[in-house]
Amino acid sequence: MVIIMKKVSQIFLFTGLLFAFSTNANIQLQPGVSGAWIAGASGQGIFVNIARVNDQPNFVVAWYGYLNGEQIWLVGAQPFEYGIETLTVPMTITSGTGWDTNFVESDVIRTDWGTVTIDFSDCNVGTMQYSSNDENYGSGSMALIRLSNTDGLSCHEDTGSADTIAKQSLAFMREEEKLARDVYLKFNRDYGQNIFSNIARSEQTHMDSVLNLMYVYNVEDSSTGVEGTFNNQVLQSLYDALIEMGSTSLADAYLAAALVEETDILDLLTFEGNENMPADILATYDKLLCGSRNHLRSFAPAYEQLTGNTYQVQIPELATQVAEILSSGNEQCGR
Ligand code: ZN
Ligand code: ZN
Repeated sequence: MVIIMKKVSQIFLFTGLLFAFSTNANIQLQPGVSGAWIAGASGQGIFVNIARVNDQPNFVVAWYGYLNGEQIWLVGAQPFEYGIETLTVPMTITSGTGWDTNFVESDVIRTDWGTVTIDFSDCNVGTMQYSSNDENYGSGSMALIRLSNTDGLSCHEDTGSADTIAKQSLAFMREEEKLARDVYLKFNRDYGQNIFSNIARSEQTHMDSVLNLMYVYNVEDSSTGVEGTFNNQVLQSLYDALIEMGSTSLADAYLAAALVEETDILDLLTFEGNENMPADILATYDKLLCGSRNHLRSFAPAYEQLTGNTYQVQIPELATQVAEILSSGNEQCGR
């Protein structure tokens, strides 16, 4: 798997070059800006939610304020594409009906209020310009100060080295988990062993967890969506070689499957070894590693039972880890 290692070191080299160009006036709109923000002064502010609607990100904002002693809510939503730094959202004010059982949907009056234009200079500070059709509100500008984050969702200011390597590792791992799934789907058709279909399902959940992080980090899905095809040519060659390796017998298919898991472990350990890898990505890679260890604990004994031979580690750098994995029991990995 020297080619995989080479690819990984190319990624590291590439990200080093981008580091110098990382300064931006504003951060990109991203799921991590979701949360509560003070607007102008404590006690008034906005709630932001980056929602996915019809497979597109939507900037949803609710503004909590006052006018002439009355509390006011303004609401708005605007679809957008990742990559932009500022957005104008049309706002609506609603009135016309009563509380709880006195609420009549057909009585609700939605009045176009005007617009807000929002940008964030970093993950904790932003600006909201507003322009209302109603002269009682007028127009102006307010500073936004972060009050709270959405739990478990990180916000990213740096589009330089840390983010770039994280993003490239996600694009790579998304396809590598798909490689595992696709190899096992093929072997399941060829040999009809449940072990392949069961672990293929597990690889699908690994693919899904990487995709969730890709949403968080604004990375486009790297997967082709087609079984057996890959955008990354290194992974395409690896897939072709593994399918050929496993085509000769069920024993060879088990060896090829174990090699998939060893490759997965090596690549995940390599990415985890990067000191700039964000915590949420590390946590997911830990889960994938745990899954790979369990998968190896399935494929290696399956090979041993079928052939009577002892399983031999296939990636020499992993000799110690693989011996440790195979001498210990299955782990609970979480979802
Ligand atoms: Zn996996
Ligand atoms: Zn696996």
